[in-house]
Amino acid sequence: MINGAQRLSLPQRIGRLDELAHNLWWTWHPLARELFRKLDYAIWRKTSHNPVKQLREVSPDRLIQAASDPAFLSLYDATMSAFDSELSTDNTWCVSECRGKITGPVALFSAEFAIHNSLPIYAGGLGILAGDICKEASDIGLPLVGVGLMYFRGYFCQRISAEGYQTEIYLPVNLEEAPIEPVFGSDGRRLMIEMSLDNLTALVSAWRIMVGRTTIYLLDTNIEGNPGEISQLSAQLYTSDQGMRIQQEMLLGIGGVRLLRALGIKPAVWHANEGHTAFMMLERIREELEKGASYEEASARVRASTVFTTHTPVPAGHDAFPIHLLQKYIHRYLDGSGINGDTFMELGRANGWDQHFNMTAFALKTAEQRNGVSKLHGMVSRRMWHVLWPQVKEEEVPISHITNGVHVPTWLAPEMQELYETYLGKDWLDRHDDPELWKKVESIPDKELWHVRQALKRKLLTTMADRARDALTEGNMALNQVLAAGALLDADVLTIGFVRRFAEYKRPAMIFQDIERLKRLINNPWKPVQIIFAGKSHPADGASKYLIQQVYALARDSGFQGRIAFVADYDMHISHFLVQGVDVWLNNPRRLQEACGTSGMKASVNGVPHLSILDGWWPEAYNGVNGWAIGTSPGKSFDENETEDADSLYRLLEEKVVPLYYERDANGLPSGWLTVVKEAIRSVVPAFSSRRMLKEYTRQMYIKALPQTNSPTPLTQQ
Ligand SMILES: *Cc1c(COP(=O)(O)O)cnc(C)c1O
Repeated sequence: MINGAQRLSLPQRIGRLDELAHNLWWTWHPLARELFRKLDYAIWRKTSHNPVKQLREVSPDRLIQAASDPAFLSLYDATMSAFDSELSTDNTWCVSECRGKITGPVALFSAEFAIHNSLPIYAGGLGILAGDICKEASDIGLPLVGVGLMYFRGYFCQRISAEGYQTEIYLPVNLEEAPIEPVFGSDGRRLMIEMSLDNLTALVSAWRIMVGRTTIYLLDTNIEGNPGEISQLSAQLYTSDQGMRIQQEMLLGIGGVRLLRALGIKPAVWHANEGHTAFMMLERIREELEKGASYEEASARVRASTVFTTHTPVPAGHDAFPIHLLQKYIHRYLDGSGINGDTFMELGRANGWDQHFNMTAFALKTAEQRNGVSKLHGMVSRRMWHVLWPQVKEEEVPISHITNGVHVPTWLAPEMQELYETYLGKDWLDRHDDPELWKKVESIPDKELWHVRQALKRKLLTTMADRARDALTEGNMALNQVLAAGALLDADVLTIGFVRRFAEYKRPAMIFQDIERLKRLINNPWKPVQIIFAGKSHPADGASKYLIQQVYALARDSGFQGRIAFVADYDMHISHFLVQGVDVWLNNPRRLQEACGTSGMKASVNGVPHLSILDGWWPEAYNGVNGWAIGTSPGKSFDENETEDADSLYRLLEEKVVPLYYERDANGLPSGWLTVVKEAIRSVVPAFSSRRMLKEYTRQMYIKALPQTNSPTPLTQQ
């Protein structure tokens, strides 16, 4: 067992630092962050805020000193006491709301979990959502266990060459320095489960992450005794190799259920996050058959207790496997399962995906509670999956929606937290999903709000400059790339952030459609504008890599006077600085292609208004005064008119955004701008928090999926 306290021989007085480091509760508690910062600021920064690593590197002298420093000790005691009381209290929303009803944990299966940067096992929004759910579950006292994969190769780090070409660097996760612990069985040995894949038997072990009261289990095949190809299964997130992906998804779904059983965990509700996880339902049907149920009974039982969330609004985004390939990997599993192969294949069939087994179709048919992730996405999903319920009208297709939200204490700048504490009240965080509370945003003095907003922008620009300096020093950046890294950015200038995964549908280059018009905006000597880009392309997506090249070339173009920058290696760490530090959050995807989007929510809660196409969550949030809408109403088709959208964007910038930002009142403050900032905060925090979201999941989905309250309809009636 990794027992840091023993191995690290921490002084007894501060002996629980290692326990704290291994519970990611610290990531959203300012007191705990302060504690690690105080322990050794240089190492804290050097380790990118990874206390597990920090504790291994900090000098023994410093530890001894800290153990007798009254200021440090009082912070330590306050942190540990908050930690203990929060993790043990019964005074939670869930206890009062669901008293006695939730008989076991919700098991949340997800291909990625983004909790903290020290664990690079996520690629983007899907993982961020799963991570935010785990944290929120801990906060509201909802019992929840996560199940995912331990990608030991991690997700890639992005480097940008002088020509703007993305290269991918894989830095294997150092398991000793990650906030994870191996899972042991009751016999004191590494817990191992078995499963068959193709003609092989895989041994699977597991790791545990603590996230407050929530535990996440990560499956791992990289163990001695496994054939080479099996041991590589859990190496990497979203490989493009279809056979490997099928096996990964079997590992996650089937292996995940077996792991929970081996641990004696008895979930009351099973939540499949996106289609990748849906073999979880298959394994549970197999279990019911093994217990003697008929196939109808088995599938009805599984369906009744399953919640499925779909995240993809475009047909091509859904996981679908060629049937012959799936058969190859799953036949041995099916042979021993009592599940008829044809019946199984039928569950993954959907019109339009001939010869493919569609994981979303399979999940929709094996879960009774189904949802999309925004109101618009619910509608798009009902339209897309009408093929599965042809006998009902489109609006009656049984897929509802729960709009995503963000974990406020994770994404909010400490400086903003202080403002909210002062002007909304000490208990603001306990009540942060209450819209009434946010009326008090009015009372924040403009001067203080502006001061914080500017300070956060400076913090971002300093961080970018530091990164460029480090990259330059380490030889990872050429001198002529420094301009593109943001060396000439200016904190007094209106700063737009375009920060997201680079994918064609997100149209990162749309703002460059009319270069001369953009130059006039950016280079206006009295009212200049600067734009910060960041984002990774999927390694196999050549078209989107080319978009990075285009953007990068313009960032290096002296015609833009150093006012366009590209920050390499977008991840959770730099994401915090970006959502907190820019002035405006730009989002211009093709209509109906963004299921929800959450980065704009993170920005708004920090007082960074959203400038966006009315797609994803924005049609629900936009009220005319809390940001800006590019173009007109939510699109009615998948067609786009990029020129029209670009024109609308330029006009908004020219006529609204830029003039408003630079208009100062008698006190030198942009009071009109701050009105938008306050309105963004007031309208977005309560409604787009993960607290509101998870309460909805509990009330609208989980409660209905509990064993005693549901009355399943047999599958055959569908
Ligand atoms: C919030 C976040 C996302 C999701 O962003 P969207 O653009 O809204 O999908 C992706 N990656 C990181 C690192 C994030 O912090």
